[in-house]
Amino acid sequence: TAFNDAVAKAKPLNAFIVETPEHALAAAKAADDARAAGETPKPLAGVPIGMKDLFATKGVQTTAASHILEGFTPPYESTVSQRLWDAGAGMLGKLNLDQFAMGSSNETSYFGNVISPWRRNDGGNAPLAPGGSSGGSSSAVAARIAPGATGTDTGGSIRQPAAFVGISGIKPTYGRCSRWGVVAFASSLDQAGPMARDVRDCAIMLEHMAGFDPKDSTSLDLAVPKWEAGLSGDLKGKRIGIPKEYRVEGMPEEIEALWQQGIAWMKDAGAEIVEVSLPHTKYALPAYYIIAPAEASSNLARYDGVRYGQRALPEGANLQDMYAATRAAGFGDEVKRRILIGTYVLSAGFYDAYYTQAQKVRTLIAQDFENAWTVCDLLLTPTAPSAAFALGEKSADPLAMYLNDVFTVPSSLAGLPAMSVPGGLDKSGLPLGLQIIGKPLDEQGVLNASLAIE
Ligand code: GLN
Repeated sequence: TAFNDAVAKAKPLNAFIVETPEHALAAAKAADDARAAGETPKPLAGVPIGMKDLFATKGVQTTAASHILEGFTPPYESTVSQRLWDAGAGMLGKLNLDQFAMGSSNETSYFGNVISPWRRNDGGNAPLAPGGSSGGSSSAVAARIAPGATGTDTGGSIRQPAAFVGISGIKPTYGRCSRWGVVAFASSLDQAGPMARDVRDCAIMLEHMAGFDPKDSTSLDLAVPKWEAGLSGDLKGKRIGIPKEYRVEGMPEEIEALWQQGIAWMKDAGAEIVEVSLPHTKYALPAYYIIAPAEASSNLARYDGVRYGQRALPEGANLQDMYAATRAAGFGDEVKRRILIGTYVLSAGFYDAYYTQAQKVRTLIAQDFENAWTVCDLLLTPTAPSAAFALGEKSADPLAMYLNDVFTVPSSLAGLPAMSVPGGLDKSGLPLGLQIIGKPLDEQGVLNASLAIE
């Protein structure tokens, strides 16, 4: 009943698309049985987690929060979820998200908005966005429904929702977690990672999500470090870079104050603070919103009504009509917008002007970080330029929504590990997050600096 209670508590938040308390219960039972038999329990024995509905789960509907995949039941399990089950965890359910992980507020889901469990304390009682695209994950963990949840991060979808609800989340180095069985959005950017109440839980979960997978050609063939055992909030000898270009125009004073507080905590932990410059930062967002849609338009070509999920077949329709009707009915507005942008920037006449240009910018951004690593070990920035906004506040203005990703996108383009950790509350009592960005494969450094903030 504890699992059923947890799932019932989640109802008003709309965090779950499908509930699977029986899956979590089976894991709990297996853990009990193992203990009764005198066996050493598995590392995540019986831990009930939430699974973002972007991970394919064998025999359990997997939708990417889209209509086009409604009713799709994969006959296979994603590598990341399989690893979690192998470590003894169980699944409470499939968590809501922005459709195909496109969004920053969880308002593009076919299954409705997810609501943050937080409210402002200054009278405004409007329901708040839980961030996106991993809004079901952030909401469920913040509401203490699940101790941890999986997320995916293409341009900030683990870090920004974690920041909005006062939890922690880490996007590892690109290639650490297998993308096999994760519904593809922008394959050169997509990375899975954990979202949990604190840094330690993130370290533990990540150890059981990461690892080489021959089924993903971009998977890194490296051993998974013992991140939890390596945790230390002592930053003596570490140089923390403060990128001056992240001081963006119009940034609220509270965000600046949060950043200063973060700097003070880093110093208390023994770190040395250095100012650094990442000169191409301002081009990251436009480059991301060319590259991600370009890859998405290619990845989403597979939803044609033939192989997956929904099919719309009007009277007398030929194959072309069936494709068109299926895609018109199956994709939401934001997904269609991305497909249109993506096919446009990849079209013969505009490819060089947009896509090639964006790829060059991506290289320059990666070089900015490389240069920064010659003078510092880690970077400290705010996670997002604002606290959680109200549902509906930005949904009519895609550009305003895209701007919320300004601090998370550059490290995604460079494939770097980055984590959001709660840093404090704003005037209206809403959580704000600080972001730590690390060198490739330095998840340990990122986790440790985050621990010093926590
Ligand atoms: N908000 C960004 C977007 O809409 C990032 C999404 C993500 O990381 N999945 O593309």
